[in-house]
Amino acid sequence: MLIPTVKEVPADAEIPSHRLMIRAGLMRKLASGTYTYLPLGFRCLQKVINIVREEMNKSGGQEILMPSVQPLELWQQTGRDVDYGPTMAKFKDRHGRFNVLAPTAEEVVTKIAADEISSYKQLPFNVYQISFKFRDEFRPRFGVLRSREFLMKDAYSFHADTVSLDETYKVMYDTYCRIFKRCGLDYVIVEAESGEMGGSGSHQFTIPCENGEDIIVHTADGSYAGNLEKAAVDPLPKQNFDAEIPAPEDVHTPDTGSIEAVCAFLKTKPEQMIKTLICKTHTLKDSYKEMQEYEVTHRDGRGRMVGKIHFTKRYVVLVRGDHDVNEEKLTSLLGGIHIELADEKDIERITGAKVGFAGPMGLASKNCPLIIDHAVAAMAVGVTGANKTDYHTKNVVPGRDFPLDGDDVTIADVRNAVEGDTYNGKKLLFKKGIEVGQVFKLGTKYSTKLNTKFLDENGKEKICTMGCYGIGINRIIASAIETGYDKDGIIWPISIAPFEVIITPIGNDEQIRDTAEKVYAELIDSGVDCLLDDRDVRGGVKFKDADLLGIPIRITVGKKSIADNSVEIKLRSEAQAEKIPVEKAASATAELINSLREKLNP
Ligand code: ATP
Ligand code: MG
Repeated sequence: MLIPTVKEVPADAEIPSHRLMIRAGLMRKLASGTYTYLPLGFRCLQKVINIVREEMNKSGGQEILMPSVQPLELWQQTGRDVDYGPTMAKFKDRHGRFNVLAPTAEEVVTKIAADEISSYKQLPFNVYQISFKFRDEFRPRFGVLRSREFLMKDAYSFHADTVSLDETYKVMYDTYCRIFKRCGLDYVIVEAESGEMGGSGSHQFTIPCENGEDIIVHTADGSYAGNLEKAAVDPLPKQNFDAEIPAPEDVHTPDTGSIEAVCAFLKTKPEQMIKTLICKTHTLKDSYKEMQEYEVTHRDGRGRMVGKIHFTKRYVVLVRGDHDVNEEKLTSLLGGIHIELADEKDIERITGAKVGFAGPMGLASKNCPLIIDHAVAAMAVGVTGANKTDYHTKNVVPGRDFPLDGDDVTIADVRNAVEGDTYNGKKLLFKKGIEVGQVFKLGTKYSTKLNTKFLDENGKEKICTMGCYGIGINRIIASAIETGYDKDGIIWPISIAPFEVIITPIGNDEQIRDTAEKVYAELIDSGVDCLLDDRDVRGGVKFKDADLLGIPIRITVGKKSIADNSVEIKLRSEAQAEKIPVEKAASATAELINSLREKLNP
């Protein structure tokens, strides 16, 4: 068998799951964010796929398979060519047509429904596929946790109304609980923003662990759990300031473009600063900056962009110096419109100063709506940029020196929750996690754009309502390792381990070899997934590799045990082995497997 275990790992393998997947010979890197699964790794993948497939089928999912290469045109119809930006890989084929490497498949499946569904009698239905997705992630890392090519199970449901969607959403939610439980993962379900997907409701299934890239925000009593993008915070109480605050005063603050630099210079604290961000709506052009050719073909003879009208609108966003803007909350506030930091040139034109010296005073009147975070509105007084290069303004009072109300002013929760925040009066706690799956109520976002209609009971034309449900197959494997390993190697849950049992004969004695072969044959006959380590190497090497591979049950056939006609059975997760007579080895192992499986039974 090709099981190339190694001691050394490449420097880019920063976290345990990545290191162990290389060391145990489960996979090898081909290029940034792409991996080849070797036999053991592929066996793990297959086991996860089988669990996902079984549970999806039980819940009424129907398996299909959609193309990975999809026409860009279809993505233009929903506007997601822009939303995905450079994360979606695009290429031109030999006939000059533009294609994308599918990062997901809402467009294709919605088109299928548009073409095939005509009556309410065909609804609801739920189709899914297990296939490769490609996302040109800005920073692929952590092995298969964030790769560019990965296997996803993506399901899509179609409904006549939201009541039917809610039913299927609940079914999928419960299905996900069963899938992750069967995979041996301790998951937490959090409320999520629906992000690029759009729609109204979403939950993420997250595995709490130190190396997760997601932040789970929750209350101690478990009454609330959301991810950082979503987690709402209570507004802070309005600060009181007894003394009269003098008029705003500009101070010379040379070379202090960052919050830290200004604070050091003026001896203030970040929470006394008002960060002023000049933002703009995302434009079609930005998303194709890297693709000159595409732009040319989509401009008319005079070089104007054809097809869509895109214009840029500016916003001024204010958050406290110690807070971070939450893009998802901003997008939600603006009804789905994405905004991002404006270009340097833009900022200089609007503020009249170099980047780093923007302030809210006078900007609202320049056709830039002000979006003010609650925490800024609650400040009694602060320091902010003076809209003058190398100057900041002290004694700035919100409401006095810049407006807190009016047509162009919105006060809202637009920042990330931080330590000390509350929600519904309860203290918010933070922990890291890995997102392994997400479910979305999409509503009619895609069906409207792709014209997916049907006739209802009264013969009236209606738009389909949709849901979608994703699982990262590779991430399940990495998460299982991230939460199941020790200094010697992986500790797999029985359900997704590459093998359930490993037999390690120690010594070259014929009786030992024969006994190992016999137990192996019995286990294979009874359907157990069993690996026999018949290599001609020392016992120590076999034990080390068995621990590294993490196979849940090890049967050792050695000189000592064979003398009283027995073998040793040991769990990878426990230190103690048990002696069992040879003739009972197979049945005792089968029992052990059953009891391990029982624990993962939903
Ligand atoms: P993330 O926020 O981590 O980038 P996502 O929310 O964009 O992920 P979805 O669009 O919800 O991902 O995709 C469904 C599932 O696919 C995710 O829950 C995750 O398990 C998996 N997945 C997404 N991106 C990657 C990736 N780059 N590598 C491996 N798995 C991924
Ligand atoms: Mg997601």
